[in-house]
Amino acid sequence: MKMSNMLISTLREVPAEAEIDSHKLMLRAGMIRKMAAGVYNYMPLGLKVLKKVEDIIREEMNAAGAQEFLASAIIPAELWQESGRWDAYGAEMFRLKDRGERDFCLGPTHEEVFTDIARNEIKSYKQLPLNLYQIQTKYRDERRPRFGVMRSREFVMKDAYSFDKDQVGLDLAYDKMHDAYVKIFNRCGLDAKCVAADSGAIGGSNSAEFMVKSEVGEDDVVFCSDCNYAANIEKASSPAEKELKQEFKEINKVETPNVKTIDELVKFFGTNEKKFAKTILFNADGKIVAVMARGDREINEVKVSNAIGEVINLELASSEDVKKATGAEIGFAGPIGIKVDMLLVDEEVANMYNFIVGANETGYHINNVNYGRDFEGIIGDYRNVNEGEKCPVCGGKVAIARGTEVGHIFKLGTKYSEAMNAKFIDEDGKEKPFIMGCYGIGVTRTMASIIEQHHDENGIVWPLAVAPYHVSVIPVNVKDEEQVRIANEIYEQLTSVGIEVLLDDRNERAGVKFKDSELMGIPMRITVGKKISDREIEFKLRDGEMEVIKIEDVYNIIKGEFEKSNIKLK
Ligand SMILES: [Zn+2]
Repeated sequence: MKMSNMLISTLREVPAEAEIDSHKLMLRAGMIRKMAAGVYNYMPLGLKVLKKVEDIIREEMNAAGAQEFLASAIIPAELWQESGRWDAYGAEMFRLKDRGERDFCLGPTHEEVFTDIARNEIKSYKQLPLNLYQIQTKYRDERRPRFGVMRSREFVMKDAYSFDKDQVGLDLAYDKMHDAYVKIFNRCGLDAKCVAADSGAIGGSNSAEFMVKSEVGEDDVVFCSDCNYAANIEKASSPAEKELKQEFKEINKVETPNVKTIDELVKFFGTNEKKFAKTILFNADGKIVAVMARGDREINEVKVSNAIGEVINLELASSEDVKKATGAEIGFAGPIGIKVDMLLVDEEVANMYNFIVGANETGYHINNVNYGRDFEGIIGDYRNVNEGEKCPVCGGKVAIARGTEVGHIFKLGTKYSEAMNAKFIDEDGKEKPFIMGCYGIGVTRTMASIIEQHHDENGIVWPLAVAPYHVSVIPVNVKDEEQVRIANEIYEQLTSVGIEVLLDDRNERAGVKFKDSELMGIPMRITVGKKISDREIEFKLRDGEMEVIKIEDVYNIIKGEFEKSNIKLK
């Protein structure tokens, strides 16, 4: 590509709207432009990178035996009503009506559509297994779109859906996708860690996320540095602490006027947080659920939702609901005599002795409470793991880091096939629901994550595999006929063997051209200047030192860089 023919949109200034490096650099390098909050146009440079990431995904999906497909982005409401998700999806779904007042949505995901395809097209076990995927634009009306294409309302996603006749087949399909994802992120130059994830009401070790470390990530990842254990905070667990066994003491009610929070209680009782059990009330689709955890712990709402069952909306109970359940103001809830639909007790609370809880009476707490003697509930793990706790696998210490999810693999089982009556005839002549898996990659988010991991103060530093162009060729003085002629010759020579070259033939100062090339992150730069009288040019890797080379060596040097990156030239 000759830059004189190109739409160049680089910016010197850092746009005020951008908060994170990848967003700033995508705007500054002219990769994207904002249309509306969380909605972006992909400029030529951005589109080139996007297509390269897509191609890597496509190659690895095909190699894993999956087949490409393209579903419609507009989906009729009926499919979502069949699966029960039309209402459940809530405000995040972009909904629209056609001229006949029929309801549709812009697909936020495509489980329903693929299940519908399968039930219409697959009749027999002989057609299984099958894995279909698409690379498509998805729509989610995020409450807070932020960070450019990292969390946008319109984004490109690769989603795949596997159909199997049994669990063994699904396990195999899932493992294949896991291996394909490892290859995809490696080839993109992305350091992505596979972590165990929550799989909702389905449970089990049925879901994993590929996460990249990021300070602005939406998820907390708990990981162990002594072993391979890594899990999303929603899924992570740590062995419950146990207090040393003590004799049960006699229960006693204590007047605690205006003492509500754990901090206030700690001061009032002159003891530490671990002597308290807090009782938090939630409203789960109208059900009032109380959850107990030790005073120093945080309750994990995903674990709570999973324990309750299929919950669409979990929120803290209103003060009226708290009053109804406890007969007291907020701050005095406790397990004894509480009127709730469900009482969940974190296993640590069941391991405590003679602890303090709310009395369900404004201005009072109860001391010397014991699980089993004074109350009972459903014991389970309902809390977040904290930094420094024990690893559940090896007993080492865990740490917590923020991460962004770039991929997700999930064993769905028969959740959708049963809801939508998607069945096949098995070898034994019986009708059975498909056993399904789904596998997503945020393509645009992957692109932004690559930039997060590969940039410096001068701009993007693309890994060769996803760079918009491999080489920039810069004649220092475009009025010097000889420089232009040699720059053109190098351009032609490299282009003819499939190397993507950006020839900066603009009538600009060399400094401007260097800056643009660095900002755009072009991995290799060739400068054609005065040294051509000695048949010499300058070669520089984006993150390396400049060297003077002979014109005739340029192809071999570049070829060597492709070999180092394990990329075949066409
Ligand atoms: Zn460990």
